[in-house]
Amino acid sequence: MATDIKGNFIAGEWILSRSVLTNDNPSDLDRPLGNYASADPADIDRAMECAQDASKEWRHSNLLERANILDRIGNEIIERSHELGRQLSLEEGKVLGDGVAEVTRAGQIFKFYAGEALRLEGDSMPSLRPAMEIEVRREALGIIAVITPWNFPMGVAAWKIAPALACGNCVLLKPSEITPASAWSLAEILSRAGLPRGVFQLILGEGVSIGSKLTGHPNLNGISFTGSTATGRIITKNAAPNFCRLQLEMGGKNPLVILKDADLDTAVASAFQGAFLATGQRCTASSRLIVEEAIHDRFVTALIERMRRAKIGHALEEENEIGPVVDIKQLGKNQEYIAIGLKEGAKLAYGGELLSRSTRGHYMNLALFTETSADMRINREEIFGPVATVLCVKDYDEALSVANDSEYGLTSGIVTQSLKYAQHFKTHSESGIVAVNGPTAGADFNVPFGGRKNSSYGWRETGRAAKDFYSVTKTSYIKAP
Ligand code: ADP
Repeated sequence: MATDIKGNFIAGEWILSRSVLTNDNPSDLDRPLGNYASADPADIDRAMECAQDASKEWRHSNLLERANILDRIGNEIIERSHELGRQLSLEEGKVLGDGVAEVTRAGQIFKFYAGEALRLEGDSMPSLRPAMEIEVRREALGIIAVITPWNFPMGVAAWKIAPALACGNCVLLKPSEITPASAWSLAEILSRAGLPRGVFQLILGEGVSIGSKLTGHPNLNGISFTGSTATGRIITKNAAPNFCRLQLEMGGKNPLVILKDADLDTAVASAFQGAFLATGQRCTASSRLIVEEAIHDRFVTALIERMRRAKIGHALEEENEIGPVVDIKQLGKNQEYIAIGLKEGAKLAYGGELLSRSTRGHYMNLALFTETSADMRINREEIFGPVATVLCVKDYDEALSVANDSEYGLTSGIVTQSLKYAQHFKTHSESGIVAVNGPTAGADFNVPFGGRKNSSYGWRETGRAAKDFYSVTKTSYIKAP
């Protein structure tokens, strides 16, 4: 294999493809980060064939063997968190602290599912028929395509791959073409962890060129995908004829409600963290700030004050808290939405302009729109950048109704000191995750993650719930002779 191109990992070997993709560096466009293979459809056939062979034994593998392998993977990721975090920050653009934290979390996720591999619990009970016993056990689903996004290239890959392997499945990882380095390094660790040939394979390349071959493959049993709602729809259409099981995590337009009794510091910290950290590139970002009239002006003034102090720049410079936008396409989209908001009559109360730094990168200032209404496109469509809107409402009832007025339902939040409103919001918010007095972004891996409406489809991810997606139950009726 040529040393300057990193390959796919198929059938236990590192192989190149006819095409190559360059990994860009959004903090410094003059220093790209290397070349990666871009698989063609024939590579997928080969990987599927190998996975089918591997699945026959791996699905019955010893649980302690699975647990030990997952634990080893977790340990190595954590030990190398600084090196891998730096690599992640360079290719994705999130600041170094966030890159290292994501890698560490990925390691912890593998260790969590090392434990879960030992807890593939079933059920047993007497039958309704005489002298019969019933046993319900989990079995592996089979062969899973894991399709990951660029914004959490390690974290999301870990939380899909680890439970899949724990349950005895074979995995084909198709990472985002925008962040191949993190996926490649993860695959390299997995390639040495003791997994039998074909249990884990890496297929690099563009979703548009290999996506349909992969997701429409008749031998695929499940797809766990995180990405845009539009791609989720394409995958659903492709996979449905084969009755392939789906777990889709897609877009968000997450509301953060700020009531008049909110602690102002908590409100500003939650809005700033939720809307702008990680350059607003999180499906859980607090992109709609729904603020009660009585606190509106104070809140907007304080938030803008905080935005002014934000340090935006190269992902590896320690003083920065926000890095560049991931690529030129996303930067263009963010700028387009700034223009759309202005055209719709919203007030650009702060920022939004391109920034210049000592290196050539995709730098953009944080942006806040005020005087917006719920019907504007900037309040309905996911932007996926450092752009937030403020919606001024007269009371809690209006806040709740505006919060729920969305095609999305991933996360939501409320900042209030009122137990009554916090409880009511928790119960009536149409989202999969609710935050009280905190940002809508940020989730723990030991509990379920997922949304409603057009944000999610299928089984929940993370926590013990992930095992439900990656396994099928078998009900056995046993009659004593
Ligand atoms: P984003 O716009 O945030 O990059 P996408 O939904 O386009 O989100 O990408 C998420 C993941 O889905 C990436 O790994 C991408 O390569 C993959 N992908 C894109 N299009 C397809 C497709 N048609 N079929 C399968 N996977 C796809």
